[in-house]
Amino acid sequence: MAHNGVLFLDELPEFNRRTLEVLRQPLEEGTVTIARALNSTTFPANFMLVVALNPCLCGYRNDSRRACHCSVPQVERYMSKISGPLLDRIDIHIEVPAVPFRELSGGQPGTSSQEIRLQVASARKVQAGRFNGSPTRYNADMTHRQTRQYCALDDTCRNLLKASVTEMGLSARAHDKILRVARTIADLAGSEALLPAHLNEAINYRMLDRQFWT
Ligand SMILES: [Zn+2]
Repeated sequence: MAHNGVLFLDELPEFNRRTLEVLRQPLEEGTVTIARALNSTTFPANFMLVVALNPCLCGYRNDSRRACHCSVPQVERYMSKISGPLLDRIDIHIEVPAVPFRELSGGQPGTSSQEIRLQVASARKVQAGRFNGSPTRYNADMTHRQTRQYCALDDTCRNLLKASVTEMGLSARAHDKILRVARTIADLAGSEALLPAHLNEAINYRMLDRQFWT
């Protein structure tokens, strides 16, 4: 039902682990196969997956306002409901800390939706030109070959990526995801070259690979 749209799963660890594992096929192939006793049918299921979860059962882990009372085994059990292979298939992991009261009540206005829209539209335009004549539409869909072609790295970037992959023990899939996300960050910034700042930002989005709960 989320085909060509967004599938949002709130409180991810509350889902049955087997249910979550089923997401692997649509995330990889953009289709879902439903098998019944006599036959199986494949449906299109190409969606953007967005998930949310607390950092622990009580929700106050790493929160400066209140103490978290979860024990280490409790936190581990909570996080272990989400498998590594599923996390590996998610492009961007990001921590969203609580907003302090003074920022909620006034303060600086952020970037408007209209400004963001313009940036996104121009990044999409760059991608449309890049993939003209190929079935690929967006950076996220780049094949391994296209990733190599359009995410050329200079020595600084190559060393940065190599160090992060080794240090964080990243998979080949995560390695390519970092490059594709970095390409999009560069497109949003209107930069043709992939710069260390773009790559660094993309590496920072692999937060859950670094096992922030330990
Ligand atoms: Zn807690």
